[in-house]
Amino acid sequence: MQSDRKPLQRDRGRLMDRFADRRFEAFFEGAEPVVSDARVAPDRDDPLSSPHFDALIPPLIRWIADARGRLLVRGESPHASTDPFPAIRSGYDWRRALDPVDRKALLQAATHSANPRPLRVRMMGADGERRWAGLRMTCVSTGRGGTRWYGTIEYLPDLQDEVCALREALAEAREHYRWSVELNPQVPWTARADGALEEIGPRLREMTGISLDPRSHLRWNDMLHPDDAVATMARWDDHVQSGEPIIVEQRVRLTDGGYRWMRSKAAVRRDARGEVIRWYGTLEDIHDQKVAQDALAESEGRFRLAVQAAGLGIWDFDIETGARTWSPELRAMLGLADDVPATQECAMALVHPDDRSILQNMMATVARREATTHFEATLRIHRADDGALRWIRSMGWTTQSAGGRPKRVLVTFQDVTDQEEADARIRWAAGHDAMTGLPNRAAWQATLEQMTARADETGERFGLMLFDIDDLKRTNDALGHDAGDALLCEFAARLLAMAPPGAVLGRLGGDEFGLIATSLRDSDALQAISAAILENIRRPYVHDGRSLDCGVSIGGAVYGEHGRQAGELFKSADLALYASKASGRGRVTLFHSDLRAQAQQHSSMIRMARQAVSDKLITPYYQPKVDLHSGQTVGFEALLRWHHPRLGVQTPATIAAAFENCELAVAMTDRMLDAIVRDVRRWIRAGFDPGRVAFNASAADFMDDDFAQAVLRRFARGGVSPRHFEIEVTETVFLGRGADNVARALHRFSKAGVRVALDDFGTGYASLSHLKQYPVDVLKIDRSFINHLEGDAGDAAIVDAIVKLGTSLSIEVIAEGVETQRQRELLIDHGCRFGQGYLLGYPAPFVSPPKTAT
Ligand code: C2E
Ligand code: CA
Ligand code: CA
Repeated sequence: MQSDRKPLQRDRGRLMDRFADRRFEAFFEGAEPVVSDARVAPDRDDPLSSPHFDALIPPLIRWIADARGRLLVRGESPHASTDPFPAIRSGYDWRRALDPVDRKALLQAATHSANPRPLRVRMMGADGERRWAGLRMTCVSTGRGGTRWYGTIEYLPDLQDEVCALREALAEAREHYRWSVELNPQVPWTARADGALEEIGPRLREMTGISLDPRSHLRWNDMLHPDDAVATMARWDDHVQSGEPIIVEQRVRLTDGGYRWMRSKAAVRRDARGEVIRWYGTLEDIHDQKVAQDALAESEGRFRLAVQAAGLGIWDFDIETGARTWSPELRAMLGLADDVPATQECAMALVHPDDRSILQNMMATVARREATTHFEATLRIHRADDGALRWIRSMGWTTQSAGGRPKRVLVTFQDVTDQEEADARIRWAAGHDAMTGLPNRAAWQATLEQMTARADETGERFGLMLFDIDDLKRTNDALGHDAGDALLCEFAARLLAMAPPGAVLGRLGGDEFGLIATSLRDSDALQAISAAILENIRRPYVHDGRSLDCGVSIGGAVYGEHGRQAGELFKSADLALYASKASGRGRVTLFHSDLRAQAQQHSSMIRMARQAVSDKLITPYYQPKVDLHSGQTVGFEALLRWHHPRLGVQTPATIAAAFENCELAVAMTDRMLDAIVRDVRRWIRAGFDPGRVAFNASAADFMDDDFAQAVLRRFARGGVSPRHFEIEVTETVFLGRGADNVARALHRFSKAGVRVALDDFGTGYASLSHLKQYPVDVLKIDRSFINHLEGDAGDAAIVDAIVKLGTSLSIEVIAEGVETQRQRELLIDHGCRFGQGYLLGYPAPFVSPPKTAT
């Protein structure tokens, strides 16, 4: 067995020797001898026992023991001053000198003693302490079937302590390394000069699945996101040229195929000739940071876009540093160049003087640096470059740091001029009349309400005037709406020019205007102002080469005297205006209490007339027209009567106001004509000739252009000839709104055979030219001239004149209201042929055939 082993040992020895040779050679290269032979004299007979060996190795004991371990002989290091292990003596089982814990190890060593390895054991030292020793031994056959142990013991002073300390230090160093590497966000790596990865931190290896198998020859760019690889490699190439350390952010591929952002720092190490030895670098996982950064950049980008899209300018004040910045948009908005410093003075100078206090308040708010600040304000500025006036809306708030401290004040600005102007236009339009530019009814009435409320507290007097342009419709109809509009504008302009200082004007409706005269002493003062306005406005006005009449009716009321509430005051002025119009236009009426009674009466009349129409209570009464000489009835006038449910038969006087009301007047004529046509037909059918039956028409009837035809159609439908009829009109119809229609209608009637009578002749405002202008067949002398015919020479003269006028124009004349025989005789004396009156017959309901009440 041993002979088998020897060549192996020899080979190993040779191998070891070669290795040792190299070590020795390398170690001794250029080394000087440390100790000289002169100092420690060698034993010339036995050089191997030279004390130099003792300097190299600790004292060595050689021993030989029998198969049972009993020490046969021990040698000693000749130069050791003391015996380190005196316990090992001849005749002893030297194993006793061993620490019991090491005996087992010794036995194991002994069984494998063919290959003597040094065994570290603890042995009893000279001082009784256990000491470390190196034990080698080998079992040798004695050739007589017995065995001997040959062994050596080396003294290993404190070797084990050192080893332990080293082990501990190594473990500690490993742990330290692990902690510092594992916890360090920067994971180290190295790569060969050709770029192949050599080493890489375990965490990264785990994450990326990078294999460091040298055969894989993995380079960084194999690991990078395709989008980053080219740029990164270009930087690396640059770096190789310049020698500068490189820092790149790149996405590194993970085991799961995803990528993670890493910051790579790398530097190259070169040798003396400048050749690249190795790359050293670190990788730091910055993925979360990068993602957050990207998200922030994206949100900032979005914010920027939003700010631009919204046209917002931003003023940013850093509370901590005191730095103020104006965004480019804000500068553009203000017309400020980029180099103008963002100072408060500069901002203040741009703001409209009236709005500077707003900015001052904003600045004060900012200066307080409150965490909860929020403000909004709109102010006017003059742009720095072109001086244009712009409206700017600002909104400011404070942002807070994580600790809740105010961090910065942000104020956004928006140019809202267009919006503001549009709002202003809308506001203006809501409160004004577009044509005249005056406040409209709602705005004017709101002012009136404010003034009454204020006057209640201050006792200030003020007056109210309402204006109604006379005959605006006639201007519109005759000259077109342009002329009408021009008239309205001219009227407004004149009113404005004439209005007393502080007066509030308004256009209340089509042709109605209002004026509030402030600081008014009394109603006399109002009367004076009204008169002056009336005078001025009456002057004709030329439009498009034509002269326009601009008459106006005015009604006035004074706060306190004629009402204390806005509504009441307005109503008073309105009643006065109505009275002005009713009493013939172009007048001023100040409110008085009778007007209120009249108004009440007026509305009660309207109410009753409405009832009379709807309940079919209207019926004609017929009053005969008589030949004064013969007493013969030549015709009748149909007079309206209505049956009051309680009071019985009523005359038109009870509903007089209704004849002015278009709707009711027309309805009443309608009812009357229905009955009149029916009655005339019944008379004729009964063989009675009623002569001419007259019906009364009011101005309202002529508003309808079709009036004459409608009446004529009605006659035709009723089967009665127009020749049985006469239409009575007063001269006021020539002055009213339907005046143009009147002439046409009367000619139509006349042509169809209906006679035309001019009622109440002598009382109207018409001129005698009407007699030529209209087809008048009959003049009815008004009752007022007949009344005093007996005693009043003047009335007699008028009657005489009218009769002569009629005679010369071939117009029949009939006297109204003949009540006495004397009157009848006088009329006959004056040459008046016909009469109508209580003397000759009372109005009476239809009877078949009617009887005259003489
Ligand atoms: P008028 O057309 O002048 O009618 C004559 C009025 O004198 C009638 O009054 C009649 O009753 C009244 N009368 C007749 N003889 C005498 C007399 O001897 N002495 C006095 N003091 N009065 C006399 P009445 O019926 O009350 O009508 C008043 C006015 O009402 C009428 O005045 C007329 O303008 C209007 N009227 C009457 N009926 C109608 C109608 O159907 N349509 C219209 N539009 N108006 C009518
Ligand atoms: Ca009449
Ligand atoms: Ca009359």
